[in-house]
Amino acid sequence: MTPLQFAHAECSNWNQGACSGARIADDLSPLPGCPLEKCLLADEKMCKYFEESVLPMAAMVSDPVKSKSYMDAVAGYKFKHHISGLFRRCPKCGGPLPTRKRFCAGCTSKHRRKSTRDAVSRFRGVAVSS
Ligand SMILES: [Zn+2]
Repeated sequence: MTPLQFAHAECSNWNQGACSGARIADDLSPLPGCPLEKCLLADEKMCKYFEESVLPMAAMVSDPVKSKSYMDAVAGYKFKHHISGLFRRCPKCGGPLPTRKRFCAGCTSKHRRKSTRDAVSRFRGVAVSS
């Protein structure tokens, strides 16, 4: 997923490719908007609203497939604009890693399934043998 597709999916200012330009101050009060005819990301420009309000959503999505594609979009945006603070990589698959996570969403769900399967087979093994 590209940053523009991510904006299309999640940016509240996205308005059929245009930008409604709403902004929010640090104290969460609305600031005067500055609508644009075209989303800044379409011209590969940086967008403060996207960085502050949309990018953090990538780490909050629970759906593993969605999370991976959002994290790819974040990585693409950061790479394109040379934003420092390199993101960590998943030790299993090498994909981008959400903050405060040991594995990416896909590997987490695979790991959890395997762990549950192992625990169930251990439990059944003990139950049969005793
Ligand atoms: Zn992974």
